[in-house]
Amino acid sequence: ASGTPPRVFHFKLVLLGDASVGKSCLVVRFAKGEFYEYQEPTIGAAFMTQTVSLSTEVVKYEIWDTAGQERYKSLAPMYYRGAAAAVIVFDITSRESFDAAKSWVAELQNTDTLIALAGNKSDLEASRAVDKEMAKNYADQMGILYMETSAKSGQNVNELFHEIAVRLPKQS
Ligand code: GDP
Repeated sequence: ASGTPPRVFHFKLVLLGDASVGKSCLVVRFAKGEFYEYQEPTIGAAFMTQTVSLSTEVVKYEIWDTAGQERYKSLAPMYYRGAAAAVIVFDITSRESFDAAKSWVAELQNTDTLIALAGNKSDLEASRAVDKEMAKNYADQMGILYMETSAKSGQNVNELFHEIAVRLPKQS
């Protein structure tokens, strides 16, 4: 038996971004390890939970996926209030979705919420419309994490939530 049990931390995490960028699919991929080509626009549950184990800590995420209410700008603050982390998602094949992501970053950047930017649908490299270096440079400038993910292939999905878990401030 190896000494002290890990400390457990609970964090609320929200996903923000344009419609159809893959927010629901990312949550389902992370929480259940599955991908559905025809993911219903609204997932049934109000939130899903998933755990990330770090070396001496366990992070339990309570992940909120809305039926798109967050797109109604006036409702958004209610949705992300109290969130320890926000994953702002765009689709690498949509320049417009990247612009929308930037406005979400601007909205959250002076809050206590840790921001991660996810360029999703990395499996669609042939249709890429957002330059990877440019997105990375933007994220560096803003001091936020950037990862390219694919909810479809699973690429970098666990890595994204793991990296957020590492970066989240953990008070005892
Ligand atoms: P949301 O509106 O942001 O929650 O987007 P959804 O999760 O509902 O996904 C919108 C569409 O994009 C669906 O048809 C998904 O199958 C598709 N999709 C989501 N993630 C990926 C991905 O990583 N790669 C590809 N090729 N399609 C994806």
